[in-house]
Amino acid sequence: MKSLPTCQHCKMQWTYTESLKSLFRLRCPYCGEKNFARKQRPRDIIFSVVSMIIILFIFPFLNFTFLWKTVLVFIALAIYIATYPINLKLTKDEEPIF
Ligand SMILES: [Zn+2]
Repeated sequence: MKSLPTCQHCKMQWTYTESLKSLFRLRCPYCGEKNFARKQRPRDIIFSVVSMIIILFIFPFLNFTFLWKTVLVFIALAIYIATYPINLKLTKDEEPIF
């Protein structure tokens, strides 16, 4: 089940492309209001834990060249950005980091 973000101001659901376009600013393409991403999503936690394990424990044992490691990091980053709008929850107010 994938769900795309809904603007908390005008309740319009963003399309996948719109979400990708407003990935960093999170400004609604319909009403122009600013939204904030909910922090501490399970997906983000899983992603950071998995990438940490790979970088710290798996990378040192692989005989990959620096170039291959860079390529893998970029692929991971691309997957992260591509899946970012899925299950993204928006809020009207910025949440404190802690
Ligand atoms: Zn809106």
